[in-house]
Amino acid sequence: MLSQNGIPTVNDLQQVMPSEERLNKGPVAIAECFQCIPCNPCSTACPVHAITVQPDINQTPVIDWDRCIGCRQCVAACPGLAIFVVDMTYRPDMATVTIPFEFLPVPAKGMKAQGLSRAGAPLGWFEVVEARQARGNNLTWLVTLAVPKDLAMEVRNIKAGGYRNE
Ligand code: SF4
Ligand code: SF4
Repeated sequence: MLSQNGIPTVNDLQQVMPSEERLNKGPVAIAECFQCIPCNPCSTACPVHAITVQPDINQTPVIDWDRCIGCRQCVAACPGLAIFVVDMTYRPDMATVTIPFEFLPVPAKGMKAQGLSRAGAPLGWFEVVEARQARGNNLTWLVTLAVPKDLAMEVRNIKAGGYRNE
């Protein structure tokens, strides 16, 4: 349970997931942010004003998925590493998941990285299709993994140092 171990339940996640119809239209942000804290960098970073944290800054963010263009700026901006971008249109059988990453070394494009669940359980080895640092002074990396579609809502972490060249 979220309040005891920090891991959201299926019910928690249902509250923040885009519809299947929206997921099938292209990359979209998912904010797995459940705690009421005074925070809004995700909102100010969004170039198309798709995220609102109002009228009280302690509220959790709400994403307008019809506006979201999947640019990933909110992923880099979130200090809680709570936002991910999922693209279910990557390939017929594969999706991509962009994960904020703040460990060194960072896996490079073309490597395989070990993907983990929200609870830290290993889910497999997945191709890194992109790894880039956020803009400006933000040292957060954005690592994008290609994963089977049935794991697109499960892979949410990368094991630090869990990379291989193949
Ligand atoms: S992915 Fe880009 S467009 Fe979508 S909510 Fe985040 S910052 Fe806004
Ligand atoms: S920046 Fe991250 S932690 Fe802060 S409100 Fe947005 S999603 Fe939540």
